Amino acid sequence: MRISRTLYFDHQATTPVDERVLQKMIPFFREKFGNPHASDHRVGWETSRAVAEAAHSIANLIGADADEIVFTSGATEANNLALLGLGRHETAGARRKILVSAVEHKSVLEVARILEQKLGYTVEHLPVDKDGRVSVSDLEDALDDDVLAVSIMAVNNEIGTIQDINGLAEAARKAGALFHCDAAQAPVAMNLESLARDVDFLSLSAHKMYGPAGIGILYIRRDLQDRIEPLIYGGGQQNGLRSGTLPAALCIGMGAAAEILVAQANEKERSILRKRRDTFLEKLLGLPWPVRLNGPRGENRHPGNVNVVFPGLSAHDILNALQPGLAASTGSACTSGIPEPSHVLKAIGLTGDEAEASIRFSLGFGTTDSDVEDAVGLIGQALERLSKIPSAHFE
Ligand code: PMP
Repeated sequence: MRISRTLYFDHQATTPVDERVLQKMIPFFREKFGNPHASDHRVGWETSRAVAEAAHSIANLIGADADEIVFTSGATEANNLALLGLGRHETAGARRKILVSAVEHKSVLEVARILEQKLGYTVEHLPVDKDGRVSVSDLEDALDDDVLAVSIMAVNNEIGTIQDINGLAEAARKAGALFHCDAAQAPVAMNLESLARDVDFLSLSAHKMYGPAGIGILYIRRDLQDRIEPLIYGGGQQNGLRSGTLPAALCIGMGAAAEILVAQANEKERSILRKRRDTFLEKLLGLPWPVRLNGPRGENRHPGNVNVVFPGLSAHDILNALQPGLAASTGSACTSGIPEPSHVLKAIGLTGDEAEASIRFSLGFGTTDSDVEDAVGLIGQALERLSKIPSAHFE
């Protein structure tokens, strides 16, 4: 997929809105603009019904019921609502420990830090292996009567690692701990059909699944809804769990995106994407420059994710040299304006220099064979140009 002159290899940052999704949303900006909470007239009822159907479609994607879906502004808010909401509710409870994996998204790690610093919980970071996997036995070792909740993502946003959520959630359940799963990157990567039956809380984000940005959900198991303290108070919408007028068009867009993922022969789409990813990777590894893969190979990886290190180079320099031809990302997060090497790459054993020489390329359903070919060509040219600059030192 090209955006004007740019090959788009950044689908894990955000996906384009599927045209079918957009078409379903448009009427809700126009003639069906009613407030879904306006209960006194037909315009409101119609929007309300459409939002309820969207919740149903999203619930269907993960094997939940519609009344267990709380709309949020995205996965960041969903992760906050799950962990901060639970942590605030349980401040006087007996269980005082929270377990999170070392490779979680910042919207989980930062909430965990707040739970520790402001609410007195103890937070433990579970280690990962060189592929970014949390082992069930490590989790079992860390679990005890003091653990309130465990939060482990389904699919990593940087290196694409797919976790054994069923096994991990089962271990947590046996120890009486609650299990939250940040599944923001999962809908494209795996079948989620029954995931909600294994976990207690689950976060999704529409803009990672060909829906619009600005909307997500938190699945909260029905019997746990009174153990979540809301983050936003007001008119009491969504059973008081998240007040505020729902953005109907966005909710409907997320519902439509979920329906498409359920309806399309997804395994087929995934295996086509996986094959293209592997072709892209093989071609990168075949370039006459040192290139190494970060993270796992094969089925245990997001089918569109390739994360590689170009030893001796700077990812920023490479991405700059690729402009405007190709869009991809470094893993580094920018905290208070100071770029830091990715905590994910460090957790799998990379040095700071290696992490800063790593780039995530993420392919999507719209990526073609010729995009792959052209991208590798551009990357080869960029490496060639950079290798002539004296500061670059290939190993
Ligand atoms: N979790 C993961 C794993 C993500 O990849 C992202 C987005 N980068 C988020 C949470 C945050 O999602 P949102 O943009 O919807 O707030």
